[in-house]
This record gives sequence, structure tokens and C-alpha cells, in this order.
Amino acid sequence: MAVLEINDIVTAYGKIEALKGVSLSVAEGKITCLLGPNGAGKTTLMMTISGILKPQRGAIRFNGQDLAGKPARTVVGQGVALVPENRLVFPEMTVEENLKAGAYLRRDAGKVPSDIASVYERFPRLQERREQYAGTLSGGEQQMLAISRALMARPKLLLMDEPSLGLAPLIVEDIFRIVRELNNEGTTIFLVEQNAHMALQVAHHFYLIEQGKIVFDGSPDEMEEDEVIKRAYLGSKV
Ligand code: ATP
Repeated sequence: MAVLEINDIVTAYGKIEALKGVSLSVAEGKITCLLGPNGAGKTTLMMTISGILKPQRGAIRFNGQDLAGKPARTVVGQGVALVPENRLVFPEMTVEENLKAGAYLRRDAGKVPSDIASVYERFPRLQERREQYAGTLSGGEQQMLAISRALMARPKLLLMDEPSLGLAPLIVEDIFRIVRELNNEGTTIFLVEQNAHMALQVAHHFYLIEQGKIVFDGSPDEMEEDEVIKRAYLGSKV
């Protein structure tokens, strides 16, 4: 069953359409992966779903409610949280302040301390560094913090924009382990990724976007058999 349904979304920067009528769906409880080259529109799609960018046209239904063009706070309030590209933690705030910032829309403020405690249980390194400025963390730690900050919103759907970008292979393994773990715990995940080999280890369904259009939609098996994808994304092992 689809929890997120995107239909014919067009998002433009000025006159340039970065998304030219994108339609796709994300199944509840699954990991859906969006592949695509640089500049294809992946980040634009994530920002459109999150309410940071307004689409010119189209529908974004989450649990049946239309979120297209709604402000980010409404989208988060509905249970959709973004882990942005390049991590984007608040560098001059401490680890713990970043986590609290992720919970700012929560109505059940009383439960925030126990959620912070469970983040620390998952990521002991963040606990060790709780008073440290986020800007002084390593890239991998910042990514863990960016994921944790999104989790503080208790999302039903987690949008992750290239969480492995620029990280060392061992850290990438860690990130993907966490993605799988969160999914096993019941969070639906929509993942942007350029590392198709890693994505194949976790994702249940794939889309490929090129120049603002979805050009492939299929299962991991279908993806591995597609000649174009094989050549462009699976040519060499990482
Ligand atoms: P990457 O993997 O490099 O992050 P992407 O698939 O996420 O790429 P987008 O960042 O969504 O791609 O960009 C899609 C298109 O929109 C590109 O042609 C890009 O140049 C353009 N674009 C992105 N941001 C802006 C902006 N702020 N102003 C104008 N054009 C933009």
C-alpha cells in the first residue's frame, strides 16, 4: 500500500523546470530508492515533498492528505521528516541542542527527553559528544546527528537525501545498517542515493530520475537486469 503518492509534480527555479511532471509512490513499511545523476532533480524532489519548495503543479498525497505546497511545518507535523543533503546540522549548536531543534514541533514535549535518551542508545558517540558543537564533529558523526535530528520528529516517513555522500566506506556501511534498522522498526524510507550497489542491499523498490523525469520504475531484480542501469550505475563495484 502506498503511503506517499506523487502525481505529476512540476517544480521550477524561475523559468527552469527541475521536475517535469514526476509521478511515483512509496510503499508503507518499505525502503524506496531514487537513483539519478547529478542535477537530475533528486534534491528538488525531496525539498518539494518537505515543503521547502513549492511545486507549480501536481499532487503529493501522504496518507491520503494533499501536502503539495504546504509549509514545511505542516509536512513535519504530518509525520514526514527530511535528512537533508550534506547533513546540514546547526554547526554552532551543541549535539543536544540540535536534537532538541528536531523536536520543536512535537506536542508531546514530555516525551522528548526519553527520545533523546534512545537516540544516545543508538548512537553512543553522540552521547559522548552531547555538549560539543555540531560543527566540530566528523562527517560521519554529523550524518548520524542529522538522522537523529530527523528522528526526533518521530517520523512515519523518513526522507534521506544521499546520506552516504562523501563518507568513508566503513561509515557508509554503518549508515546503511541504520537505514535497515529504522525500516525494520517500522519507519518507511524514501532514499536518494547514487551508490546503487549499497542501495541494492537495502531497497525494496527503485526509481531512476533523469533531467526531471522518471525513466525507470522497478524491483531490485528488474534494476539489475536493466541494460541502461547496469551500464550507468552498476558497471563497477565500489
Ligand atoms: P545532485 O546529485 O547534484 O544533488 P540532484 O539530482 O539533487 O543533483 P537538483 O539539485 O535537484 O539535482 O537540481 C536539479 C536541477 O535544478 C539542476 O539543473 C540544477 O542546476 C537546478 N537547480 C538546483 N537548485 C537550483 C537553484 N537554487 N536555482 C536554480 N537552479 C537550481
